[in-house]
Amino acid sequence: MIGFELTEEQRQLQEVARRFAENEIKPVAAAIDRIADPKAAYPLDVIRKGFELGFHALLIPEEFGGLGGSTLDYAVLLEELAAGDIGMANAFHVVMSISEMIARMGTKEQCQRWLVPIATDTTGTQLICFGATEPSGGSEIFCPHADPRLGTRTRARRDGDHYVINGTKVFSSNAGVSGLYGLLARNDDSRANLESCSVFFFGADTPGFSIGTIEDKMGHRASINGELIFEDMRLPKENMLGREGGGFETINAIYDTNGVGTGTMAVGVARAAYEHALRYAKEREIWGQPIGKYQAVGQMLVDMKADLEMARLMVRRIAWQNANKNSREGLLPPNLAKVYPTEMARRVTIKAMQIFGGSGYMKDYPLEKLLRDAMVLPIISGANEVLKHFMSQRLLEA
Ligand SMILES: Cc1cc2nc3c(=O)[nH]c(=O)nc-3n(C[C@H](O)[C@H](O)[C@H](O)COP(=O)(O)OP(=O)(O)OC[C@H]3O[C@@H](n4cnc5c(N)ncnc54)[C@H](O)[C@@H]3O)c2cc1C
Repeated sequence: MIGFELTEEQRQLQEVARRFAENEIKPVAAAIDRIADPKAAYPLDVIRKGFELGFHALLIPEEFGGLGGSTLDYAVLLEELAAGDIGMANAFHVVMSISEMIARMGTKEQCQRWLVPIATDTTGTQLICFGATEPSGGSEIFCPHADPRLGTRTRARRDGDHYVINGTKVFSSNAGVSGLYGLLARNDDSRANLESCSVFFFGADTPGFSIGTIEDKMGHRASINGELIFEDMRLPKENMLGREGGGFETINAIYDTNGVGTGTMAVGVARAAYEHALRYAKEREIWGQPIGKYQAVGQMLVDMKADLEMARLMVRRIAWQNANKNSREGLLPPNLAKVYPTEMARRVTIKAMQIFGGSGYMKDYPLEKLLRDAMVLPIISGANEVLKHFMSQRLLEA
């Protein structure tokens, strides 16, 4: 039997998130998007209100003060936030996703130390930021080759009971506005990238850590992205999440949910674009009738709707399989939840802009922002080409 209905609790979560997007996010999103200084654009007030509602703690287990939600709950919540503004949704997405990594891979003591202060925070200041990407390339970090010269360059050298970290991470979301930071670093220069990295977490005030450039981005302007710089930063060995050399195991602990997060945000952006285009197609009259009555425009709307619904089904199917790993239906590659919806979001926003005509190109209308926000989606959370490379290897090996 196939069930497509949300539970009563999921409906309530959707309703709360939808109202939050309507009342708190949408009224300020366009103005924030236009603030020239990326630091001044960061919407702490909205983030704080979301923290008061506990959105950030959705995937933190109840025993550590969170809501203990499922991957499907996560998809339901994030779609609503992203339909309001993807930059603000992304701030919550990173906290949810990385807190799940800690919950899955952390010891009880680490979960107590790192997750409880986040779960119980109502000031909106206890975000998480995770740095993997380096100046040498976000894709380079995932280098699967045996040559030890390739891959992650940030170093974590063992020194007694401590590690000394040196290196730079770039483009990290929530940089400079988080209480907890995570990073991926290389422990052993003589071994292959995939076998020689580890994940560490540390507080914002750790000596040797500083924030570098804050990026001035094309879209996602309510989300803050920047450099994390490590200069002889000493961390006790208790700050390592997972085992030494098991960094990719630790990152892969959220392999099955991470795609759902970014894919869901893509669905939210595309839904907003589709809804604007549908309304406009009914209101805009040319030659005495609404443009939606013209076959060319009507067919674009149907293609957009089909694409959007396919992407939502894909995201929810993979969110569902996460809780049903023994399904007799078999498991889809989790990153399909990321690659299909993110490419869909580009297609749908481009069509929506076409329906708006010249007005779609003007800043007074919502389309150009949605298009800018959609453009980066196939690049972030792992470039789609790289994710497809790894997925294709698995398909060929199966
Ligand atoms: C808004 C935003 C938020 C971000 N947030 C974070 C964050 O919180 N934390 C973090 O660590 N990073 C973050 N990133 C970085 C993001 O993950 C990287 O941009 C992404 O992984 C791609 O890396 P790159 O930009 O260095 O491109 P590169 O890795 O240099 O790739 C350039 C191009 O080459 C292609 N390519 C590379 N290797 C291959 C291959 N083997 N096969 C086929 N094609 C290939 C890529 O697909 C891409 O098109 C963020 C980026 C942005 C823009």
